[in-house]
Amino acid sequence: MPFVATILTLYPEMFPGPLGISLAGRGLREGLWSMEAVQIRDFATDRHRSVDDTPAGGGAGMVMRADVIAAALDSVVPGQGPARPILAMTPRGKPLTQDRVRALADGPGAVILCGRFEGIDERLFEARDIEQVSIGDYILSGGEMAALTLLDACIRLIPGVMGAPSSGMDESFETGLLEYPQYTRPVEWEGRTIPEVLRSGDHAKIEAWRRARAESDTRLRRPDLWERHEGARVQPPSGAR
Ligand code: SAM
Repeated sequence: MPFVATILTLYPEMFPGPLGISLAGRGLREGLWSMEAVQIRDFATDRHRSVDDTPAGGGAGMVMRADVIAAALDSVVPGQGPARPILAMTPRGKPLTQDRVRALADGPGAVILCGRFEGIDERLFEARDIEQVSIGDYILSGGEMAALTLLDACIRLIPGVMGAPSSGMDESFETGLLEYPQYTRPVEWEGRTIPEVLRSGDHAKIEAWRRARAESDTRLRRPDLWERHEGARVQPPSGAR
């Protein structure tokens, strides 16, 4: 069954956007994944088609209404237990990881809710089974770019979308480390040469060099990742105290 993305948004024209070109676009045309963008405003009930209102308690901006979004969601996921997870893009969510991306890519797809304004009435998250996802500690103007980012990360893992399936396995985060640095021709550029070992043809040495660089670069650039990686390595066997 192909990966199916349903995006609930006030800007359906933003989809597939950049996912309609390159490898993701070819995958879309070949039916390796599919998408539908649903206009949330179509579920508004007043004559102004309002989707938002002023924040309870005062403050700047507007808040998206739970009743309108719930009607949009329920039209996509009718009945009980959704087969596809419902994700809401929000800076208040759990940071997205490559593990989560891989699990999503292995599944039937996702229903993705894109916020705007100051966000969404909290009662929606109490009333529906929704996973709140953040793509990083910064604020975008809307959830659409976050949804495109999440989808891009998933779609490239769908079998058949990327040219060489093995090329994904070394990548940053797949191993718990950053990837080693990459080089290509020309061998010399602005007085800098590609490291000798990478031109040696000795696969064991190349492998060892790449591993060492992945470790040292991760330790220097992402001490948080390195700590987690080292923690996982020295974990006692389960059950041991
Ligand atoms: N007032 C909110 C806050 O401070 O948490 C920010 C709202 S933001 C301007 C509008 C929408 O953009 C959010 O509802 C969410 O859908 C999306 N968004 C912004 N930053 C995001 C992030 N880092 N990850 C995921 N979605 C984000």
